[in-house]
Amino acid sequence: MKITAVDTCILTIPMQREMRKQFAHHKLVVAEISTDEGIKGLGTTLGFGGGNVEAIQVYLETRLKPALIGQDPLFVERIWERMARGESGKKHGLSAFAMSAVDIGLWDIVGKVAGQPLFKLWGAYTDRIPAYGSGGFVNYSIDDLINEARFYASLGCNYYKMKIHHPDPRENRKRVESVRRAMGDGMRLMVDVNQRLDVHSSIEQARMLEDLDLVWYEEPVNADDVPGCAEVARAIRIPVATGENAYTRYEFRELIEKRAARYLMPDVQHANGFSETLRISHLAAANQLIVSPHLAHELSIHVVGALSNGFLVEFMDWIPADLFEYPLQCVDGCFMIPERPGHGVALAPGAREKYRAA
Ligand SMILES: [Mg+2]
Repeated sequence: MKITAVDTCILTIPMQREMRKQFAHHKLVVAEISTDEGIKGLGTTLGFGGGNVEAIQVYLETRLKPALIGQDPLFVERIWERMARGESGKKHGLSAFAMSAVDIGLWDIVGKVAGQPLFKLWGAYTDRIPAYGSGGFVNYSIDDLINEARFYASLGCNYYKMKIHHPDPRENRKRVESVRRAMGDGMRLMVDVNQRLDVHSSIEQARMLEDLDLVWYEEPVNADDVPGCAEVARAIRIPVATGENAYTRYEFRELIEKRAARYLMPDVQHANGFSETLRISHLAAANQLIVSPHLAHELSIHVVGALSNGFLVEFMDWIPADLFEYPLQCVDGCFMIPERPGHGVALAPGAREKYRAA
């Protein structure tokens, strides 16, 4: 089998409901890999809030695509190594976003050739993946936060994650407490700092939230500062989660060795695809840590479905019903992994035309 073409495009997805208050749209870079046997693989990577997608597409078109044409797509590990070692070993940042899309598309082809969904190909653990509702952005009013949490609760989710981005830590406390009070014990909360605080301020903020039964405290400091993250983790009683801005097994190894987090959050569309995310997840298992992948739940379900140390997928409800051919439904707070071969995600008829023009 040989790769005959890689076709890329950018889709612009307008936001719905509360999320419109924070973002006009997200953008999705799509890479469709064609083969001489007619099987195609779909790779995607998300430009959150629309960021970086043009550069990712150029990297795909000019640096990765020429090296892919003529290769056997079933040799995923070999292609991965070539991509990772090419360009003087660029596997962080935007090049990792591009590599992720290719790796996801290659695995889609492997699954289709094998006739199996990926989580089964990797040795399944579960086909039913619990999700947490995610959003809670800083532009939301307290009513918006509660409305969004109630939306996820209406789908059976037992967890909701909100941002704590207000410069005044007391205001963040008030917002989290308001949601906690409105939702009661039926819904547990996580909070996300998104790297906005220094070590001291982050410890102070966390201590103000310690009585609210939070599941985790996410990205407490600049993601490059692993010792700083570890210092926060040692000082607070809420478990720390991090990893959405780490790209390789080596960065995660440092997080693990420094005991910087209890929950690791690789993103399959950023951390060099399914291949590296699985390596990271197995490294986590060897160190008694839990994996809860960042975003891309439509793909991450396969990773969690193949792990004994997987936890929740992040469900940020931004995907319109007409984007993918078989929209995933959150039922009783869980996603059932589809039995379709590969990752099971395909663009709906007309979606490419509709959202390219948006
Ligand atoms: Mg986050």
